[in-house]
Amino acid sequence: MNFTVLTIFPEMFSLLLGGGIIKRAIERRSISVEPIDIRDFAKDRHRTVDDRPYGGGCGMVMKPEPVTKAIQHAKEQGPEAYTILLTPQGRVFNQGVAQGLAGHTRLILVCGRYEGIDERVREHIDDELSIGDYVLTGGELAAMVVIDAVSRLIPGTLGSEDSAREDSFSAGLLEYPQYTRPRSFKGSDVPEVLLSGDHGTIKRWRRQASLFRTVLERPDLLMEQPLTTDDIEFMKKLRQDIKSIIGKHSTAS
Ligand code: SAM
Repeated sequence: MNFTVLTIFPEMFSLLLGGGIIKRAIERRSISVEPIDIRDFAKDRHRTVDDRPYGGGCGMVMKPEPVTKAIQHAKEQGPEAYTILLTPQGRVFNQGVAQGLAGHTRLILVCGRYEGIDERVREHIDDELSIGDYVLTGGELAAMVVIDAVSRLIPGTLGSEDSAREDSFSAGLLEYPQYTRPRSFKGSDVPEVLLSGDHGTIKRWRRQASLFRTVLERPDLLMEQPLTTDDIEFMKKLRQDIKSIIGKHSTAS
């Protein structure tokens, strides 16, 4: 997977590329990340990429010529690419979107600044992504979020393919709780079942712990999720337990 990023702050990407799993993935050639400076496509000696908005109003708008030239240049640098504009107005990025993007071989990520990019650039864009309902000062952090999340799904990036498969959202649920040594920490013990060596029981415990956590924190996820009869039985039991607890406390008060 190649990520080409169009930005006026290419140096910001050293944060992402300088260490950890992404750096290793680049060394192993499972991904490549190439920031391109949009200012290189400005036509004046001041390398101007912004101008005042037509119709008045505050702030500046990114000019269409340098941005579209940069997109054209990026498209010519390799095989067919899927071009994405980072914008708070785009569809909201999530694990499902990341999985879809991981199927491409090349992504061009266009980062806005100021009040955004001239509307006419949208004609050169395949998709628009937002990383959430808030406004950042620029698209660079959003592009890094997309690169990081998509890269984890590219074979060869993580040590084990299973790590991504079991992560939160991949199977539609939040992940089960994780523990490591020591066995006892400040009076809190690792659940016995995880020490049992019984893989079937551990798998079942993890599934139920995932369901429990998802019911508590993100019940919305379960609406779309296919559930097994075991899952339903577990949730019915949970509902019964909760009813009994509430019943006991309401008769006491
Ligand atoms: N005036 C724009 C609006 O209200 O939609 C916001 C512009 S924002 C200050 C500047 C740039 O940051 C945007 O062009 C976009 O590239 C990026 N950006 C801001 N928030 C974002 C978000 N939630 N997701 C993705 N990109 C974002």
